[in-house]
Amino acid sequence: MVENNNKRTPSVVVIGAGMTGILATIKLREAGITDITILEKKAKVGGTWRENTYPGVACDVPAHMYTYSFEQNPNWSNYFARGPEIQKYFEGIADKYAVTGKVRFNEAVTGARYDNGKWTVETSQGNTFIADFVISATGILHHPSKPDIEGLDSFQGDMFHTAEWDHSVEIGKGKRVGVIGTGSTAAQFIPELVKTGADVSVFMRTPQWLLPMSDFTIPEWAKAMMRRFPFIPNLFRNTGKFTLEHFFTKAVTGHKPPKFILETACKLNLRFSIKDSVLREKLRPNYQVGCKRVVINTTYYKAIQKSNSHLITESIERITEKGIVTRDGKLHELDVLVLSTGFKPLNFMRPMNLVGKNGLHIDDAWGEKIQAYRSVLLPDFPNFFLMLGPYTPIGNFSVIAMSEVQMNYVLKLIERWRNREFDELEPCQKAIERFNGYVKDGVKNTSWVGGCNSWYLDGDGDPILWPYTWKQWVKEMAEPDMNDLMTLKTPESQHSIEVA
Ligand code: NAP
Repeated sequence: MVENNNKRTPSVVVIGAGMTGILATIKLREAGITDITILEKKAKVGGTWRENTYPGVACDVPAHMYTYSFEQNPNWSNYFARGPEIQKYFEGIADKYAVTGKVRFNEAVTGARYDNGKWTVETSQGNTFIADFVISATGILHHPSKPDIEGLDSFQGDMFHTAEWDHSVEIGKGKRVGVIGTGSTAAQFIPELVKTGADVSVFMRTPQWLLPMSDFTIPEWAKAMMRRFPFIPNLFRNTGKFTLEHFFTKAVTGHKPPKFILETACKLNLRFSIKDSVLREKLRPNYQVGCKRVVINTTYYKAIQKSNSHLITESIERITEKGIVTRDGKLHELDVLVLSTGFKPLNFMRPMNLVGKNGLHIDDAWGEKIQAYRSVLLPDFPNFFLMLGPYTPIGNFSVIAMSEVQMNYVLKLIERWRNREFDELEPCQKAIERFNGYVKDGVKNTSWVGGCNSWYLDGDGDPILWPYTWKQWVKEMAEPDMNDLMTLKTPESQHSIEVA
């Protein structure tokens, strides 16, 4: 901690060098904070976009909106950017802002313990870091969820999860590929597998609603215009933001006109994309549009109707060394099995051994229910900021915009610490309860409780998403309400104020 005109400069540990960790580092530095330790479990920056390399990986948020507000990119190749290009963007930003060189790569955080105003952070390399603040920027969907199906490990062919795609496995004509899962990820890579000529069997437990939003290549002349006139990418950005804010977000949070449009568009898409009425009924979800994350896609319905793809709706009984046995007793022999079975979103920063005040472990704190005040602050875990925590508005919006709003909130709190308003900060129990009640009221109107199971729900079946508008969230996150927070000054700090 460096003293400067009685204003303190904190030490901060940032966990993760993905989109949010890079942002946090840039913004901390802009605020004049340079004692930052960035710990990254893998060998490169990029998070999700480093991990997910499956064929066809792309972002379904318009590219110009899926960029930092302070680093527009006039060079996006497509309206919806592809994974490798997004990864390149983050690597470029991390280099430009001198973040990469400061990251401690291949150093996973194994534990963090709070004691008397300081965090002690331990890593897989056996290092220990002491910090005033910890910013957990570990992302939401980063722990692959593998299905609990009898015999899974007995399969003798090649098998991998989509977030751990094995590119050494050749997929093409003559290969029998099975896919378990039909979420956003599967909808992107199944068409690519079908294109290779492989025989693709898709094991679907629950159908999804699909919204056809076409991608297009941005021509060179348009990119040149964007480079010359920066207001053009901003215009794209604002148009994308307007659409997400006033259409998608409102449609799933109980606003009738956009909800009606979204429902109609998805239903018409199913009606006119699938020719065979039997297949169409198999693909028709029996829950509200938007209950699960709407899949933005124009290629999946076409692919599933190709002669080398097969939709299997009979449920899976077990997996054998040769393939998948369905409940009708049929063995579907496979050479490759792709697990497109999603992620464990409720892990957040875990399995890290996170211990707050009075030895409270995060597993015990969240034992009954996962909760966080305004997504970011946890009671009994002072000076710890959870980025993209529960009740962040993560349904069909840009997570980059969310992280920017949260980082701004975090910086305002750190600024108060720097001005010696407190040493220790955490939300008070009453505020947590009020906040929980507030979001619980809101979710009643949302599509997420519309008769489906999804990664949006916690163990009690309650959505962990922000149930109101984006505008409302931004407004409420603009300024921390200090009445909701408990602050404390340590005796050492009182002493240093007197000395200063
Ligand atoms: P997901 O949406 O959670 O889908 C998982 C799929 O696996 C579901 O179809 C699920 O079926 C199935 N499944 C899970 N366990 C199963 C089991 N034991 N037996 C049979 N089926 C099983 O996962 P995801 O497709 O990876 O997508 C996760 C999220 O990642 C998306 O919602 C999205 O937020 C994000 N994503 C974003 C983009 C983008 O473009 N921005 C692209 C890809 C992914 P049930 O439905 O029956 O549970």
